[in-house]
Amino acid sequence: MSFDVDALRAQFPILDQQVNGKPLVYLDNGATTHKPNAVIDAIAGYYRHDNSNVHRGAHTLSDRATARFEQARESVRGFINARSTDEVIWTKGTTEAINLVAFSWGRDNLKQGDRVLVSGMEHHANIVPWQILSAQTGAELVPIPVDDRGQLDMAAFTDLLDERVKLVSIVHVSNALGTVNPVEAIIEKAHAVGAKVMIDGAQAVAHWPLDMQALDCDFYAFSAHKMYGPMGIGVLYGKRELLEAMPPFMGGGEMIETVSFEGTTYNTLPFKFEPGTPNVAGAIGTGAAIKFINSLDRDAVAAHEADVLNYAVSRAKDYPGLTLVGDADHRAGVMGFVLEGAHPADLGMLLDQQGVAVRTGNHCAMPIMTRFGLTGTVRASFALYNTRADVDALFAGLDKAKTFLM
Ligand code: PMP
Repeated sequence: MSFDVDALRAQFPILDQQVNGKPLVYLDNGATTHKPNAVIDAIAGYYRHDNSNVHRGAHTLSDRATARFEQARESVRGFINARSTDEVIWTKGTTEAINLVAFSWGRDNLKQGDRVLVSGMEHHANIVPWQILSAQTGAELVPIPVDDRGQLDMAAFTDLLDERVKLVSIVHVSNALGTVNPVEAIIEKAHAVGAKVMIDGAQAVAHWPLDMQALDCDFYAFSAHKMYGPMGIGVLYGKRELLEAMPPFMGGGEMIETVSFEGTTYNTLPFKFEPGTPNVAGAIGTGAAIKFINSLDRDAVAAHEADVLNYAVSRAKDYPGLTLVGDADHRAGVMGFVLEGAHPADLGMLLDQQGVAVRTGNHCAMPIMTRFGLTGTVRASFALYNTRADVDALFAGLDKAKTFLM
């Protein structure tokens, strides 16, 4: 299998449009990726033919919806190589998955004097739930420092590891810097002191195959919308023995076995954590996104993505007045930068006028912005349909923006 980017782009109808009179150059994939026809059609097809509530049907449509919903869960299981579909919990996304762990596992397992380690480059989704939990339990949230190139200080991490640490919750790929953290080493070191490890995989999942059994993390979270799937759905992977022992996060229909006013018993995994009517169309769309990704030569995709990102980084390094924010040896998908004399928000607006979509601001990662003495950056983030020509358009857009600003 080879990699034909034009053929691939043709599968994403949204890319074929003009924005502000210019061809769209979409470099905001860290925020969300676009959806191929296969995903759009799977969702529309579900609503056209099979729409019904799941797990409660005495009729054919409900049986069909249930079967497709559970097939999608099996697709996720295969995609991340979990041992069982019992370890695949549907959530609204990464944010809900982290909150689920915080307020189910965390409330049950953390007490005064315990520590949760996160990195200094976390998204707010992997900071704020732990702060809320710390206020309730007395556990302490401790950030692992980040060096000047945006890499985790592994020596500091090792020093912080002791028996007080009950959980290390760490981002796999930083959405602000693009840094790929050495999660394998982190998991091994954390386990050696008896801590559990949660990985925020929101920015990793689209870029390379994941293998939960090889990785041996305790929890892993991701969102479908950042891997060519729909919004409003994501996954919490958790090791079965942990999920079995955890109390429900939210109560309602579907997550129970029996309910009486004397007491309630809970459903088995994974349903214990899925109260209420789930996002069936979202699950089916996620299954379609996985099928789409699996239809590609993933090595070729990774090589293409690395080529485009490396090209962008090398052009950035030559660009007068530009400073990269985050320049890790191992990076993926994201390039953050500031330009001397130009506010990121102004640059974003002027790039948009050229049809170039980037994100500007703090990227829901204010602590790492503060670490670099900034309030925000411009972030170009890449997906498999981006090309070197998109990178050229970004820099041509910067040239033009400079004529307005300087
Ligand atoms: N973590 C990281 C690293 C992210 O990039 C994001 C999305 N920007 C999230 C968590 C939150 O994901 P979601 O909004 O899909 O829940």
